[in-house]
Amino acid sequence: MAVLWLDDVSADDLDTVGGKGASLGELTAAGLPVPPGFVVTAGTYRTFIEEAGIDEELFAAMDIDPEDSAALREAEETARDLILGTELPESVREEILDAYRTMGDDGDEAFVAVRSSATAEDLPDASFAGQQETFLNVREEALLERVKECWASLFSQRAIYYRQRQGFPHSEVDIAVVVQRMVDAEKSGVMFTSHPSTGEPEIIIEAAWGLGEAVVSGSVSPDNYVVDRETATVDEVTVADKKILMEKDPETGETVTRDVPEDRREARVLSDGEIERLVELGRRVEDHYGNPQDVEWAVYDGEVYMLQSRPITTISDSADGAGTTPSSTERAAAATDAIDADGSGTGAKAGGGTEDDDVLFRGLGASPGIVSGEVRIVTKLDHLDQVAEGDIIVTEMTMPDMVPAMKRAVGIVTDEGGMTSHAAIVSRELGVPAVVGTGSATSALSDGQVVTIDGDKGTIRQGRATQEEEEYEPVEAVRPETPVKPMTATEVKVNVSIPEAAERAAATGADGVGLLRIEHMVLSLGVTPEKYIADNGADAYVEELVDGIREVAEEFYPRPVRARTLDAPTDEFRELEGGEGEPNEHNPMMGWRGIRRSLDKTDVFRQELTAFKRLYEMGYDNVELMLPLVNDAADVEAAKRHMEAVGIDPVKRRWGVMIETPASALAIEELAECGIDFASFGTNDLTQYTLAVDRNNSNVADRFDELHPTVLTLIGDVIETCRELDVDTSICGQAGSKPEMVDFLVEEGVTSISANIDAVRDVQHEVKRTEQKLILDDVR
Ligand code: PEP
Ligand code: MG
Repeated sequence: MAVLWLDDVSADDLDTVGGKGASLGELTAAGLPVPPGFVVTAGTYRTFIEEAGIDEELFAAMDIDPEDSAALREAEETARDLILGTELPESVREEILDAYRTMGDDGDEAFVAVRSSATAEDLPDASFAGQQETFLNVREEALLERVKECWASLFSQRAIYYRQRQGFPHSEVDIAVVVQRMVDAEKSGVMFTSHPSTGEPEIIIEAAWGLGEAVVSGSVSPDNYVVDRETATVDEVTVADKKILMEKDPETGETVTRDVPEDRREARVLSDGEIERLVELGRRVEDHYGNPQDVEWAVYDGEVYMLQSRPITTISDSADGAGTTPSSTERAAAATDAIDADGSGTGAKAGGGTEDDDVLFRGLGASPGIVSGEVRIVTKLDHLDQVAEGDIIVTEMTMPDMVPAMKRAVGIVTDEGGMTSHAAIVSRELGVPAVVGTGSATSALSDGQVVTIDGDKGTIRQGRATQEEEEYEPVEAVRPETPVKPMTATEVKVNVSIPEAAERAAATGADGVGLLRIEHMVLSLGVTPEKYIADNGADAYVEELVDGIREVAEEFYPRPVRARTLDAPTDEFRELEGGEGEPNEHNPMMGWRGIRRSLDKTDVFRQELTAFKRLYEMGYDNVELMLPLVNDAADVEAAKRHMEAVGIDPVKRRWGVMIETPASALAIEELAECGIDFASFGTNDLTQYTLAVDRNNSNVADRFDELHPTVLTLIGDVIETCRELDVDTSICGQAGSKPEMVDFLVEEGVTSISANIDAVRDVQHEVKRTEQKLILDDVR
């Protein structure tokens, strides 16, 4: 028998139907409304390769060096050619097609989903290697080909690589394929059968129009319903403005995104009856499995269907109510404007005091150097092509997809942003002089105008600089190569945000990377992670992260590279394709970012963690994982469970947290108990949250003081506790580049200091001086 109907499958059939098939079979057997379908069994695949006599050739082709990427590609191609190029036996073809044909209504061809379902003997880490193909909206014409493509996906480069590394025989892996009727959802969403953070008996339902992909990928803000599981009373209904929906194009069968008709945008998605039905199903599925479930559901023609059910892994043991749902993230108002986050008092005052007659206006000197060039005003992304070598980009605010143009430019000027803005960070790393937060550059300058910018003083002047003035080279290039960096007990590391800067960063002689911000890699994809995954698959997303982090890890190996999981605020995500559904937060700095978002959007978070896992498997044991914006042990424990779930061993790997909120500083003991190896001060955030000064708000920029005694008290106390508990400490905020902060930290006994590329050399010397002074003070 080549196929088994889901009705006839039970959990005991794992070997025959794989994980997905078994779980759908189990739900079907429990009487839950699962769309009908069948499984092309693992045995069918096995018989196919054996009877066609391609098995030996197939497995022999896999015997390669997994580190040789050309060989990997070739092995994948060979497998595809062998599997796709071999005819299915007539009996198997007939059986699959016969089963398929019974699924259509009234003689119409059914649209089906064709999904790989790996079997129990497959790799121990299914979350990594189990990501074989899935195809939606398939019809008879393509069905058999798609089944074979699922089989071939057992030999993706990644899967081959993984098995070779693990010494897992390719011949022992089987694959089943689920063929299931698609539900043309009129409405759909997710349901947590218990509160996803606290575990309380509250059912939370999120619902939007059309196919569930829109909700799962985060491209639409769904309605949110909170229901008491015991009494089934609806406690809370939040109706969202649902701008888009996804549906099947009736012509092509492809999934398309459309605007929601005006009259349905702010209409409530679920009726009381539908909520009742969902609650009933929620109770049943939780009873069936014996633990809280995260269910994907869809409504079609008045019926509620269950598409998938997984255990919820985010419930904290202490269940203390930490964590929020996305719909509760709107915060108090605060302006976002030009800032002066370095406390240097050079705040962006357009048209302010001119000690030099030529000075048109000023901003913050964000990346040093004096350059002249023609102004190129960029207001839209499609203007980027017009930026030529030698131009000065003038823009409201740089965005990650501008990086290629920023590399061509000789200078960068922005209206908005401060010393920790994207423009400032990236231009420093690229070694391109920049003035940020001018307030008015895009309106005060005109295209083609020749100006000179001074990235130290923060000035924009009319006309060209003298040759002498312009002879600027990146700071590490003009310093003598020898004597090389001084030996210090305190490690001096470097911050990196764009992989392109890795070489420059490594050339500073830094002891490693204290902060690699992966959000710049993610944002440079130009689409939100959710949309990227929806369009290209989770694998491709993981691949992007692996490539970016690897570039830096390779450059520094074996020096450690501390890569941080995603921490981009919603306003940055909103600029991206797919960002329409991001919540409109009044103060994104205090909103849905960092670990908060990751623990709500675990599907995306898991992919990030999978990238780390992959890097470890590739041998990059110098990669360390850092969690942003944690508040307490509940945050860290939840993240740790996800690490474990993807197969990262927190005992074996070095990982830690950022100390960016007063809460995390005050909770350092309980954080240490979670098993962290290090705590790293993110003083940009720690300062803003301690002093209640928005780091992006120019009105209060003069109050942004990383050396404020209260900030220093928090830092000093954390270092003291960590020294007692044998946890390393470091700084990776902007203040790590300031001599006063360096002196303070060395005196307190910090383990490492991470500075901007251009500040590394100075910090190395400052550390040396302070250490020597301490030793001398001691002996005197
Ligand atoms: C910080 O908060 O100091 C930090 C390094 O993180 P980011 O600037 O990316 O928020
Ligand atoms: Mg931060």
